[in-house]
Amino acid sequence: MSSSSPSHAGGPGLRARAAVALGSVVATASRTVNLGSGSVIGGRASLMVHPGLLRELTASRDVIIVSATNGKTTTTRLISAALAGDRPVVSNSLGANMEAGIAAALGTAEPAATAVLEVDERWVPGVLRSTQAGTVVLLNLSRDQLDRSQEVRHLAEAWRSCLLETPPTTVVANADDPLVAWAAGVAPTVIWVATGLSWHADAAGCPECSGRITFGPNTWRCTDCGLARPETQVSVDDTAIVIDGTRTAIAMGLPGHINRVNAAFALAAARSVGVGIPTAVEGIESVREVAGRYRVASFNGRSVRLLLAKNPAGWHEALELIAAPPAPVIVAINARIADGHDPSWLWDVEFERLRSRFVVVTGERQHDLAVRLRYAGVDHVVAESIDEAVRVAAGRPEHRAGDTIDIAANYTAFQQYHERMSDYS
Ligand SMILES: [Zn+2]
Repeated sequence: MSSSSPSHAGGPGLRARAAVALGSVVATASRTVNLGSGSVIGGRASLMVHPGLLRELTASRDVIIVSATNGKTTTTRLISAALAGDRPVVSNSLGANMEAGIAAALGTAEPAATAVLEVDERWVPGVLRSTQAGTVVLLNLSRDQLDRSQEVRHLAEAWRSCLLETPPTTVVANADDPLVAWAAGVAPTVIWVATGLSWHADAAGCPECSGRITFGPNTWRCTDCGLARPETQVSVDDTAIVIDGTRTAIAMGLPGHINRVNAAFALAAARSVGVGIPTAVEGIESVREVAGRYRVASFNGRSVRLLLAKNPAGWHEALELIAAPPAPVIVAINARIADGHDPSWLWDVEFERLRSRFVVVTGERQHDLAVRLRYAGVDHVVAESIDEAVRVAAGRPEHRAGDTIDIAANYTAFQQYHERMSDYS
């Protein structure tokens, strides 16, 4: 497999250890002057003195890469949990998902630990090349922000090229996303997952020939070149994950169909590295929140649940997760750099699905959202802060005392509220 410089007892060599030590010093210095966790800048310093560090840190271990526009953090967490009952695991669980963050996470791990790595969509080729990952899990590709809308097709092309150049032993891929299916189809062994997900707005054009793709229930096909949904080996229903015809009952700790789908990817990935199904299922069932997502917390004395939705595809799923009507919900939108400055993507979200309930709108782009809801015919009110939003929602006649109030927020709004909730819980 990959080459590495001389090492001791399967661990990293002297230069790698020096690079990791330097990264750790830089990270500590960065923390001391209050620049966040410091792991990314520390990782950057390590890679600067030893560009082959990632290769060396992964040479002696199994590596699983997880990438997607939506769901990669949750699925990485579920895979880590699925493996944890079987072996030591190291993961970049803080969401630092480019090379520097990954190097920082691996720097202190024991050599035998399996690496479960969340990888930014754009960094998949580089990380695959460096780590020679044996398993690659590809969930979906959708527009993340309007200003990046041309990228999805290029990302699919980059994924396809790197899977040809550095073929992993196993790819676990979404059969229902034509971009992912086209990219993953070149790999020697693909475990195809039937997701039953119905978001197709980002994949209308065929990645092979630019022809038109037609979608039906559990099927899609390009009308021009014949590219079509592959035959699947994994599927999910309300109570079980089905792999090669064998049903495995699963009682999820995370809500919604989307997380059963994420669990199916996790179970297939765990099985591909030799973890027994019962061990993997037990680990998956134990996950109840992922970096604050789905977490039920106390906020100003009331029970709330935070859901992250950062792009149209993510909102499509989030709107399915929120409490059933008539419970009021809070929707929060910011438009900072990490969210994308242009909130016009709000028009691609089917907010019409909120018509049967009352919505409290907040966040820095509350007025853009309010306009969108007005056009969608959704009864709503604007609140100036999350505190006011929770108060207003809790005071609505449809709110039953003691019920949890759902807050669907995009990226930076989610981060703001999550921090506040840590203070209050
Ligand atoms: Zn085609």
